[in-house]
Amino acid sequence: MSQTSVALLGATGSIGSQTLEVLRREPERFRLTAIAGGGGNIERLIAIAREFQVLQIGVPSNELREVLLSALPGSHVVVGDEGLKELASSADTIVNAVVGFAGLPVTLAALEAGKRLALANKESLIAAAPLVERVRHTPGAELLPIDSEHCAIHQALAGASSATGYRDVRRLILTASGGPFRGWTSEALDGVTKDKALAHPTWTMGPKITIDSSTLMNKGLEVLEASALFGIGVDRVDVVIHPQSIVHSMVEYVDGSVIAQLSKPDMRLPIAYCLGMPERLDHAWGALDFREPLTLEFSPPDLTNFPALPLAYEAARIGGVAPAWMSAANEVAVAAFLADRISWRQIVEVVSLTLSRYEPVGLTSLSELLEADARARQVATANLPQ
Ligand code: NDP
Ligand code: MG
Repeated sequence: MSQTSVALLGATGSIGSQTLEVLRREPERFRLTAIAGGGGNIERLIAIAREFQVLQIGVPSNELREVLLSALPGSHVVVGDEGLKELASSADTIVNAVVGFAGLPVTLAALEAGKRLALANKESLIAAAPLVERVRHTPGAELLPIDSEHCAIHQALAGASSATGYRDVRRLILTASGGPFRGWTSEALDGVTKDKALAHPTWTMGPKITIDSSTLMNKGLEVLEASALFGIGVDRVDVVIHPQSIVHSMVEYVDGSVIAQLSKPDMRLPIAYCLGMPERLDHAWGALDFREPLTLEFSPPDLTNFPALPLAYEAARIGGVAPAWMSAANEVAVAAFLADRISWRQIVEVVSLTLSRYEPVGLTSLSELLEADARARQVATANLPQ
């Protein structure tokens, strides 16, 4: 078996750690050759480099570069976005496990270099969909979704023809657990605390996506992600609440057949799927035991108490850089909530207000996108309650 080299960018986070677990199980198949972190967990980055004997490492600043060079003499330490780009074209498979818009250089560089991109970082795809579309057809480039819903759809679409724009597909149905506040009344939602918002019922994830799951913004972002990934308009992407997180998403075909992918909630399964394609790795990370009773429930989302979901459809309808604008505003608002500056309710209020002040621009170049992202952050910051 020939070994596949893997660059894991965002190695110190939740997806990063679970990717390392998959790699530990398959040392003959995969070799970790590059890692990067955001500087929030430098000891962990060093420990990963030592364990996997990784020589290429990315950090955000020159100061951290010095720290790494003294801990790991002889390693090649690169800095910032340029460093991420270098690492994102340095291996056969690139896992983008960075959180937020900061993952953009990884997404674009990996596809431009004709690599397999195993994408967890949905924010970059949502913000840059037209730019990603241009580079994803580079010879050798492959875009595979780690996000569990999209990985489920990728599996459920096997056999459907993308060449015809998925004519046989009526709609994609994304499942959502509903987060910790599913079924809560408006009054109860006024009393949401940070601890409660950080306690997801079915998944253990990094803080940003956990908050996004509590507002349903995560599902809104995933509607945009699905549309960009599969080239299917958001009018053919629906969301259904499924509290058990066993059915990870579904595809409804025009004849009424619905194909779903089921497993226990375990991100190692979609990570292994993206790393192993076209083969399946022989570890049943999320296997279900059908000898145990299993109840699966589905219901429509509550759009009144969770207005983030309709906002995402609105951003898609506006087009241009509106999805980038919305996602940037959301990053600002979530950071402010995590810093105890605003209440849970105010997260989506800030995003909504920022989207209502959207300054329309088409999206034809990276510089336009970077400008729009910076401007959206400015407007969102100005919209934070004092
Ligand atoms: P975490 O917060 O746990 O991890 C984020 C990672 O990104 C950390 O390794 C962090 O490094 C790194 N990072 C942040 N900024 C930079 C930067 N400028 N350069 C390099 N690395 C950076 O997040 P998650 O693992 O939960 O999520 C990662 C992505 O995957 C998100 O886009 C999320 O939406 C998506 N996703 C996550 C799922 C999950 O189960 N966790 C499920 C589906 C999608 P450090 O901490 O060292 O600063
Ligand atoms: Mg998901």
